[in-house]
Amino acid sequence: MMEREQDIDWNAHALDFLVKLSPIKKIREQAQLIREVFSLVEEYMLADAVCFYRNFDELTTRVVLASKKQVFHSHLNPDSVQNYIRSDEYQSVEKIFQPLFFINEQYEKCIVIPLYNTALSGGLIMGWKALKTDEAGFDRFLTGVQMGMNEMMQRMSVYHEIDELTTRFNAILETIPEGIVYVDDSGKSAWVNTVGSELLKLNQGSNQPFLVATAMQELRSGAVNQEEINEIANKLFSEPNQTIKDWKWIIGDPILSVLRVACKPISSPLVNGRLWVFTDITFSHIANEQLKELNEELAIKRNLADEQNQAKSEFLANMSHEIRTPMNGVIGMTSLLMHTILTEEQKEYVDTIRLSGETLLSLINDILDLSKIESGKLEIEEAPMSLVKLVEETYDLLSVRANEKGLDLLYLIDPNVPSEVLGDPTRLRQILLNLVSNGIKFTSKGDILIHVQSIGKQEDVYHIQISVKDTGIGIPANKFNTIFESFSQVDTSTTRKYGGTGLGLSICQRLVNMMGGTISVSSTEGLGSTFTFNIKVHANREVKQFDFAPVVKDTLLTGKKILILDDNETNLQILQSQCKLWGMNPVIFNDCHLAIAEMGQQEFDLAIVDMLMEEYDGVAVAREMKMKFPDKKIPIILFSSLGFSHFKNKEDKDLFAAILVKPTKHSMLKKTMMDILGRKEGSEMATMSASVLLSQTQSIDNIRILVAEDNDTNQKLIRKTLEKLGYGCELVNNGVEAVEAAKRKQYDLILMDVMMPEMDGYEATQQIIVGAKAHKPIIIAMTANALADDKNKAMRAGMDDYISKPFRIADIEEKINKWKPHFQN
Ligand code: ADP
Repeated sequence: MMEREQDIDWNAHALDFLVKLSPIKKIREQAQLIREVFSLVEEYMLADAVCFYRNFDELTTRVVLASKKQVFHSHLNPDSVQNYIRSDEYQSVEKIFQPLFFINEQYEKCIVIPLYNTALSGGLIMGWKALKTDEAGFDRFLTGVQMGMNEMMQRMSVYHEIDELTTRFNAILETIPEGIVYVDDSGKSAWVNTVGSELLKLNQGSNQPFLVATAMQELRSGAVNQEEINEIANKLFSEPNQTIKDWKWIIGDPILSVLRVACKPISSPLVNGRLWVFTDITFSHIANEQLKELNEELAIKRNLADEQNQAKSEFLANMSHEIRTPMNGVIGMTSLLMHTILTEEQKEYVDTIRLSGETLLSLINDILDLSKIESGKLEIEEAPMSLVKLVEETYDLLSVRANEKGLDLLYLIDPNVPSEVLGDPTRLRQILLNLVSNGIKFTSKGDILIHVQSIGKQEDVYHIQISVKDTGIGIPANKFNTIFESFSQVDTSTTRKYGGTGLGLSICQRLVNMMGGTISVSSTEGLGSTFTFNIKVHANREVKQFDFAPVVKDTLLTGKKILILDDNETNLQILQSQCKLWGMNPVIFNDCHLAIAEMGQQEFDLAIVDMLMEEYDGVAVAREMKMKFPDKKIPIILFSSLGFSHFKNKEDKDLFAAILVKPTKHSMLKKTMMDILGRKEGSEMATMSASVLLSQTQSIDNIRILVAEDNDTNQKLIRKTLEKLGYGCELVNNGVEAVEAAKRKQYDLILMDVMMPEMDGYEATQQIIVGAKAHKPIIIAMTANALADDKNKAMRAGMDDYISKPFRIADIEEKINKWKPHFQN
């Protein structure tokens, strides 16, 4: 250390230091750089001790390089030295503070030069035992050292950041499954990741732009979908800033690989080029192609199945027609035979034939329905319908059977059920008919009750629950599920004892499901069963009186006290709540003695008495009431399953203000009560139910009837049937003859078979209507075709009504009575 003895030219020294530092700055490897710089510092500082420290974080500052061992503390306490190391300027350390840095030494001069940088923060500590120097020159030297070192560290931090970015970038490029290629527009640079190199068949490291571009060109021209590729390529290369995302390159025939290619222009002030991304979609492409083929195959098969289904349902329609035509003969002729004089034995035979015929017919209908549902041919329609009417119609159809067995048919419609809903009345009636006729079939005593409730509502969609309860033999719990299966009955003796096919409930369940609901049963053996189903329906908003509840209370009924006597508890409850809804004051009795006694205690405006009761019948009760309280003159309404015509004795008849046939419609009861209460005493008996009036004797009219029918047996059958009813007819064999006949003569009624040779019934009807002008006859279609939408077809052809074969005398009678008021004479 010779120089220390003399005065050192620190200015020249600083210059030398910076000149020597310059090549070192280019070293990229951090540890080597620090070492080189440190030895330069050692050489030029001429210090007795020098060290390089690093700030690793806020709390850790460590000496990483030192010129001598055991001179510096290896860890510096950051709190104590922070004035020195967190400063922008280099500083002298006075002797008393030197122990913060040195272990045992003490120096004449001690300097700390902090070097700040984000990536590398640290500094130099130097000590001189004796330093003879010109202070100003030394200061300039130190400033120069600090500046040079700071610049070097700045550079190092940039290298550090670049290094970090490069590492991250390479890691991403080599991890993703896509092939990534970048080609500079100027043709100077390009890079490719490993997947990309493999794809382009480039050697690792062959990143010359020319090679990469050529390899991409080769790959593209090897694709089999050139037309599609060229179209997109034209678009891509015609404009500089085009981005393409879904470019498909299909390589090889048969397919070897399929690439989805994306290309995005990249531009910055210094860089311009295109980034290419290649995704291998071979697997999904092949899967998609296979799916397409499968779908096409499926469509062909579906069409075939549809055709077969169509053929099946046409076959069913034809078969149904073929079976129904002879059945028409069997049932119709049997029905005629029963109206002739027969011995008891013969009557029994004929009855058995009729019953077997009817069973066979219902079996055919059920099977047809089931196959219609299964082939998806059955569609649920949406038409306005009244649930009350539906229940009443069902009861009307089954009242004869219920009355024969002495069963009451009751119903209860909750007031919150909308009066008209949108649904399929035909199918809903079919379900109700099935459940109620099962109820009647399996019940020998008691009643059937239909209860309609609304159990929920979302906007105007009502959740309607309908239950059909009987008091019959019941069903064992282990059969609850199986009875809904096709051809399933509780036990094998059922058919023998009660008849039936085991298809009814299965059809009900499917129909209910199609209406979006479910059906279930609950039952106690010996006590009865309840079948419950629910459907979701829209309320018909076009109806003015929206809710069923007859809120409009008639003043005639309001406040009127009514005595109700019936030994059926359910019926009593229903009548009571119904009368309350009408604003009346009902008092109910299930015991006739109590009822009669109460008449003496209270003033009643009206009484309802049931005909069939255990102890006394309705007539006996009424007689006693009139006898005991002759002055009270309370009008009595009798509920009877036998109707009005049953009363031979006028005195009995006179006991009552009205006789209502069961099942009694609530609307009819209300009207009857209003008639009675509004009428002056002593006037005529109140209006009776339609069915009572119907059973009155028929007057024989002279009606002109034409029958168009090609089948001999059916011709005979219909002529005989009409004769039985007291009508004559003329017969023709086909549509052409029917049109001829209608031209010659004016008929009141034409019964028109729809399927006839030469000209069918629809065509004939249209021609007759055109020819008839003012005097159009009533035309009723007769058809054995159960599958097709016959009724609508007949109506569209201009017919007035429809009758399905096989028919019974009563069916023809009903139709003639219905249309009689419209006949021309
Ligand atoms: P079917 O009545 O024609 O035999 P269903 O499918 O309508 O066919 O009924 C299946 C079976 O369920 C019946 O045979 C009978 O055993 C039982 N069942 C149905 N309804 C009732 C009921 N209300 N009471 C008792 N058993 C019933």
